[in-house]
Parts: sequence; structure tokens; C-alpha cells
Amino acid sequence: MVPRFCEVAVSVPLRKTFTYAVPTSLSQVVEPGSRVVVPFRNRALVGVVLSLSQRAPTETIVREIVEVLDPISALPAKLIELGLWVAQYYVAPPGEVFRGILPPAADIRHERELFLTDAGRQYSTELASHGNRSGAEIADLALLQFCEVEDRPVRFASLKKLPGGEGAAARLVRSGMLEAREVALRRHTRLQKILAWNPEVTPPEDEPARRVRDVLLSARGPLPLPRLIEAARVSRAVIARLEKRGALRSWEEPLSMDEDLLEAEFTPPSNELNQAQQLAVSEIISWLDSKEFTTGLLFGVTGSGKTEVYLRSIEETLARNRTALLLVPEIALTIGIGRLCRAWFGAGVAVLHSALPDVERAREWWRVRNGEARVVVGTRSAVFAPLENLGLVIVDEEQESAYKQEETPRYNGRDVAIVRARMESAVALLGSATPSLESFHHARSGKYRLLQLEMRIENRPLAAVEVVDLREDFRKSHQAGPISAQLDTAIAWRLAEGTQALLLMNRRGFSWFLLCRSCGATVQCENCSISLTYHKRRDRLLCHYCGYSRRAPKTCPKCQSEYVYFVGEGSEQLEEKLRERFPEARVGRLDRDTVRSKREFQKVLGAFASGKLDVLVGTQMVAKGHDFQRVTLVGVVSADTALSLPDFRAAERTFQLLTQVAGRAGRGTLPGTVLVQTYFPEHYAIQHAARQDYSGFFEKELQFRRLMNYPPFTALANLVVRDRKVENAIRWSRTLEGFLTRQESNGLRVLGPSPAPLARLRRDYRFQFLLKSPRRSFLSKILSSALEFCAKKEIPESAILLDVDPLNLL
Ligand code: ADP
Ligand code: ZN
Ligand code: ZN
Repeated sequence: MVPRFCEVAVSVPLRKTFTYAVPTSLSQVVEPGSRVVVPFRNRALVGVVLSLSQRAPTETIVREIVEVLDPISALPAKLIELGLWVAQYYVAPPGEVFRGILPPAADIRHERELFLTDAGRQYSTELASHGNRSGAEIADLALLQFCEVEDRPVRFASLKKLPGGEGAAARLVRSGMLEAREVALRRHTRLQKILAWNPEVTPPEDEPARRVRDVLLSARGPLPLPRLIEAARVSRAVIARLEKRGALRSWEEPLSMDEDLLEAEFTPPSNELNQAQQLAVSEIISWLDSKEFTTGLLFGVTGSGKTEVYLRSIEETLARNRTALLLVPEIALTIGIGRLCRAWFGAGVAVLHSALPDVERAREWWRVRNGEARVVVGTRSAVFAPLENLGLVIVDEEQESAYKQEETPRYNGRDVAIVRARMESAVALLGSATPSLESFHHARSGKYRLLQLEMRIENRPLAAVEVVDLREDFRKSHQAGPISAQLDTAIAWRLAEGTQALLLMNRRGFSWFLLCRSCGATVQCENCSISLTYHKRRDRLLCHYCGYSRRAPKTCPKCQSEYVYFVGEGSEQLEEKLRERFPEARVGRLDRDTVRSKREFQKVLGAFASGKLDVLVGTQMVAKGHDFQRVTLVGVVSADTALSLPDFRAAERTFQLLTQVAGRAGRGTLPGTVLVQTYFPEHYAIQHAARQDYSGFFEKELQFRRLMNYPPFTALANLVVRDRKVENAIRWSRTLEGFLTRQESNGLRVLGPSPAPLARLRRDYRFQFLLKSPRRSFLSKILSSALEFCAKKEIPESAILLDVDPLNLL
């Protein structure tokens, strides 16, 4: 039977899908999962077919799909199912969910075309016949006549040739003389030449030819021409000669993938697994062999060799003819682990993350879709990689908030990974030294299987952690600098013995804010209810939320007093203080102000790893994952930054960050020390982190969550009502409050509306509801009906922000 209609997810912010007719010419090629071009209003958009059907929809006008983009369907059936789950669970527009699942449309270009209407034809004759024309009319006539002469749609871009053409086009479209439509055109991607060795031809026996053969045959495999020339150290002429002889085969491919991952010199360490690692791997093998959905939590202290367990598990998965996905929380971490995977599994590894240029990402994506790559390493969005026959999904550092997307669709990559594994009867493996409370709770209750690596590799000791009481330090020194006497001595000691120190300062900029000592005001952002941060090198005050910036005023903007002071230290200031205090030390800084690209990031990290820096200062960027061998001191300059935030996860975040950063010390053969500076030395998050006592912290925090009825004891959603006008935000919150409180008899708990902790953000006033329910599916259902209710009450969809399982309540 030929399909006559299809349901398409079109990338627009509306919570519905759209029905299109399938023209007979396309009925053979269109499938569920096909990318298609469809008319939408007067534009052409790319969408994805979710299902086919025979039955005509109830709407009267059904438009036809224009084009099917790919020879095979882009999305396998399981990914369509997963996308629909995400849309439903996170109450997100399906089109926006699927936009994130589809390959980047790097091969598509949009352009506007103009069509002459009947009215336009008539108007053209009229204008031509009457003599006295205004300047605008002259331009209008010229354009109309141009369209008539061309006798086909005119590209908007070609109007530049016509004087006044663009203005005339806008006028004529408005008055209905011309019709504008957007069309999608295929872009021709740039190609490059790839060379491979042809073993069937006896090669010439000279030295350059041998080098080419070695590179292509044993060291690297097929390479783009410029890379080959570089790697084999030969000239273009040598390549040309070998090609002529038939010793080289060549073909064209779209632009290269990220080549620096394939390093010829790099051989990964091959370690014999220790007993704990072996035990973990054999458990994972048994789950793979059961072919049943299993979630495992690999709880291993920092430096216990979790990566090795991941690699072996992937190897075992591939050996069973299934594919594997490895997620890491940050782009920077894909570099190291991508390199390891390439070294283990060769070209069958694809790396996917959002910072890749679209063309490259599309290429990697299609390599996965075509089955050329069977292992994917990537960040959050790679959870949607089009692997088929998935056997294993690993989520490294599963507790990381980077897995949560903080824009629509607000999904958590870790949770989607588990759902995906369930849909494919695969194994989900979560790894962490500091599991999230939720995950460890599930492991203890038996929902997840627990695997433990309790010791560091070779029984290296965990670093000793000392808490430095800043109140005490102030009493002695009468100075409230960022570096206590104890930390100062410890740094000096490292400089003298030639090892390295890593300092965590989890706030960027120079000073936290500018305070007026006369009236107590701080300088606030124009768009947000937050104090501006001072950045010295740029000599400006910046908002870290919306990007607003202004010159630092000399006098208080409120009372004109001259007594304005900079308060608090950020990473920029810490770097400056260190340089003053230790002029001979080589100091580097790693935060979003010093590194804006992957290249810069690698440069700083590389310099530190190779010993070209003595001290590295940074925000939480420095805390994660890295394996530095010569770090013997980790200093946490202030453990208190996160603790003071109004968020029930503040203690958990602090504990995790401190444990993570402490894990950067003493990873090599040299033992490490950690100094944690704080004004709250008794706080349980700090106390337990200092003892590196996860289970102690877990028990205490779990008790608090149970008492306060927070996750994992309840499902949580955050609903924010926002608008430029405070009256609207209040009125709509009141309306919604009525609806939500009516659901309380069904088991929903409603907290709010109350002003959000960031009561104003990017000019919007914000009111917040926290919604709790013992059942997650019930919560999603309530949220959907809340949205329907809003539509009925004419509250704009853009005024409602929904966050299911929120990680951040600001
Ligand atoms: P984690 O991710 O648990 O913090 P890593 O996987 O980074 O730990 O391992 C820490 C270090 O130990 C790495 O340098 C790794 O190469 C090494 N390593 C891992 N397993 C072994 C082993 N079985 N024998 C020796 N060294 C190992
Ligand atoms: Zn003032
Ligand atoms: Zn702002």
C-alpha cells in the first residue's frame, strides 16, 4: 500500500506535529525517519517523518512534502521512539527535540524566492501606462518587469543588482503584488582527496615510496592528501608518481574530520587489570550476555582506573557485534578519551559534540549512521547518535550538571541514556567517584547494580585533605586575602621542590562586585537582578548571566558617593596576587575568560601537563577528569562559593567539587596534599569531603532530602512564569496558581508562586512554582494539562518555562 500522508516533526517551537500529503512521486522513497523539506507558512523547513498513514486527517488543507533529502532514512526506528519519549517526558516541542537528534543541516541552504502574483501583473501594466511616477514607483516597476522578463521565481539575493530592488521587494510583498517563499537548496560541500595504498601493485623500491607505504598501510590508514604529505615527509610529485603507477588509490570525500585525534606516535598504555577492575568487567560481560536491560553504577574513587573498565567493556561489546556509546560531560574531555578510543578501536570511532563545525559533525554523524563507526564518544547530545544494535551506553561522571541541557528541550543526557538502553535492551553504565544522590540511592535500593573500585591504582593513597579555617587565619594575620598563611607556605614549598600546584577558584573575574560604602548599594545589571562582576583586564563590569557590560563607575550610581569599593576575589585577581607574591613562579590561568577555544584550552593544559607551568589557577574547569602526574598540592581557595546559593543541591555540589578536585592531587608516584579554605569548617559537606567519606555524606544528605521531601524521594519540576512586564508575570502566575492548586487533591504538591531566586533575568520578571509528586509520569501529565490551560487562558507559550527534574533552581 502506498502511504498517502505522513506525520512530520517540524523544527518550530510548537508542541505538536504536522500532517503532510505524500505526492505519488515520493511515495516509494519516504519512510519513517526520512528528512524531508516541507512548506510551512511561506517558508520551506526541514523536518523528519515520524509515521506514515493512509487516513486523511481532519484538516481540510493538507500541503505536500516537497523533497525527501536522503537516500536512506536518517533516523532508525528506535531513535524516533526515543525522541518522542523526550518530547513527552520533558513536555517539549517535538520539532525542537528532533532538531537536536537529526544531523546538522550543513548541506541545506535557505533562500527566499519571489513570485509575481496576478495582482502584480496587473499593477505592472498600470504603472507602465501612467506617465508621472514617483521614485518608489520607478523602483517597483523595474522589479515587476524584471520578474516578468525572468518568467521564473527570482532569488532575493539577485536583487542587489537592481537599484532600490530590496526596498521595492519588501513593499510589493506587503501589498500582495509579489509573493515571497523560502526554498531549501542543497549546498555543495567541499571535497578533499583521500589516498590509500593499493596492495595489488608492486611498488617502486625507493625510500620516499616506502615511507608513504608505511604511513598508509601500517601507521595511519587512508589519509587526505595534505596529511599524507606531512606524515610521510614527501613532496606532491612523489604522490603523483605513485598514483600514476597505480600504487595509490584515491577518492573524494567531504571535508576532513578532526584529524588531530589520530596521532601516529600515540600508543595507549596497556595495563593488566587489577582484581577489582577485572571483577567489574566480568559483571558487565554477564549483563551484556543476558541481553536484558541493566543499569550499573561504577562507583570508583578518583584514580581507581575507571577508564580502563570502560575500554574493556566497549571491546567486549564490539566482540558481541553490538555498538557502544561513551558520554563525557565536557567537550575538553572528549579529546583525551577520543584519542584512547581511536588507539584501541581504530577508525571505527566517531567523536560527536556541539563545538565541531557543522560540516564535520554531519560527516561524523553519517559515518555512524552508515555503520562505519561503531563506537561513539561524545558530550550530552551524542546520546542521540544514530547507532543501531546498541549494546552499551557509558555515562562518565554521571553526576555532572553539564549533562543537563539548560534550554529547550531541557533533558538530562544521563537519564535519556538510561531510557535509550532500556529501549534497546542494552547495558547502561554510570561511572563516578561521587555519584549523584539519586543514582547511589537507586544502587542501594537494588534498582541499579553496584560495582565498586575502592582503591586507587597500585594502592596509591588518596591525598590528605586539610581544612583551613579562614576565621582563624584572619584572627592571626588581620588580612583577608585570598591566600592564607598555610596555603602560602605550601605553594612556596612546591616551588622550591619543583613540583606543581593546582588552585581552584570557582568564580571568574577580578572582584565579585562594586559596593558603595556610603549607601550599601552594589552596581546591578540593567537586565537581571544580580550584581555585576568586575573584570580588570577589560576594565569593565560584566553580567555573567546576560552578557551586559559597562564601565566601572568612579562614584556610586545611586548616591554619587566616592567611597566605592571592589569586594571579593575572583580567579583573575588570584592570578595577579600569585604573580606579585611569587614573581619567579610560572603561573597560568584556566577559565572562560582566558580560554575561548578548544585550542587555547589544550595549550594551557598542555603547558601545565608538560611542566612548563608551576601553578595553575582555574575555575571548576580544572577540577575534572584530568590526569596530572606532578601535582602535589591542590588548594581550594574558597569552598564556600556554592554553599551560599539558595538551592537544595548546594551541599551535594560542594561535596562533589571538593572530592573531584582533591582527586587531582597525588595521581602519579608523588603523594599529594589538599588544602581547603573555608569560613564554614563545620559544614558537613566540607567535613565529609575532607575525609573523602562518600557514604557518610550520602547518609546525612539523604536524611535531609527525605525530611524536606526532595529528590530522590519525590519527582520535581520547576515552572517559571516570565514576562517583560511585572504585572503580566504576576497576573499569569495567579491564574496558573488556581489551576495547579486544584491538582493538589491528586497528589501534587505546589510551592509558590514566589519570586524566582533570580527574580529578573534578561529583562524578564520571573515567578516560580516548584511542583512535587511521588510519581514522575503524573508530573509530566499535569504539566501538559497546565500548558493546555495556559493556551485556553491566552497566556503565551513563551511566558512559561518548564523544567522537569531541574538541576538548577535559580
Ligand atoms: P579514574 O577515571 O578512575 O579517576 P583513570 O582511569 O584515569 O582513573 O586511571 C588512573 C591512572 O591509572 C591512569 O593513568 C591509568 O592509565 C592507570 N591505570 C588504570 N588501570 C591500571 C592498571 N590496571 N594498572 C596500572 N595502571 C592503571
Ligand atoms: Zn551609594
Ligand atoms: Zn544581566
